[in-house]
Amino acid sequence: MRLEVIPIVCSKMLHRWQSRARALRSRVISRLMAGSLTSVGCENSAGIEVFDASAEHSTMLETHRRTIDAITLLHETCPIHIQWMRRCAKRIVLARPLGSPASFDQVSQSIFLDCELGAHYDVVAIAAMLVHEIAHSRIAAAGVATSAKRLDLRVRVERRCVREQLEALLRIDPSHFFVQWSRELLESRAQSELLPTIDEESIARRRAYRRMRASGVPSWISRLTIRAVRSPRP
Ligand SMILES: [Zn+2]
Repeated sequence: MRLEVIPIVCSKMLHRWQSRARALRSRVISRLMAGSLTSVGCENSAGIEVFDASAEHSTMLETHRRTIDAITLLHETCPIHIQWMRRCAKRIVLARPLGSPASFDQVSQSIFLDCELGAHYDVVAIAAMLVHEIAHSRIAAAGVATSAKRLDLRVRVERRCVREQLEALLRIDPSHFFVQWSRELLESRAQSELLPTIDEESIARRRAYRRMRASGVPSWISRLTIRAVRSPRP
């Protein structure tokens, strides 16, 4: 083997080990997490398991019902997104208010939905939020890792997910008020329209963590959930 090839081979091996370690960590955290949450079944058209982490929140049942209706709606109108969800997201977790209505956590491959969504948003809006997070899950599954340091990449990923939600909305209900809001987000040149400032984000994270701990959610699940909150979305 020629000397100049050695660093390239080492780098490829390291990359392979790192991706195997990441996959193993995801599987372990997924199993631990699923074992700690209450499953409310997978009787939905995507066959995806839904978990209740709301600690008996009063709006949980309505949010669960609307989430199931949103999955059915997507199955009928946007089957490709349902296929992506089956492939890239392992579960939907209905959790106490997180500071963000919806988010995707790459480590546990879970879509988190605020358990109060059912009190504020209709089925179409919840379907749009699901599509947004499904798009995040697909991008993550493709190996695109976003971080606070790569703001430009985060904005590009966010735009891509907003475009997916807009396309789904145009198929489901072109007159829905989320359509105009999604277009405004895409037309906005200001990054702050798509992403929160660091201060806003850290305040929202701290607030969400305190709320989860106060309602009895274990600290490690709270931390994991807060990790999933990357940017507030309506
Ligand atoms: Zn997003």
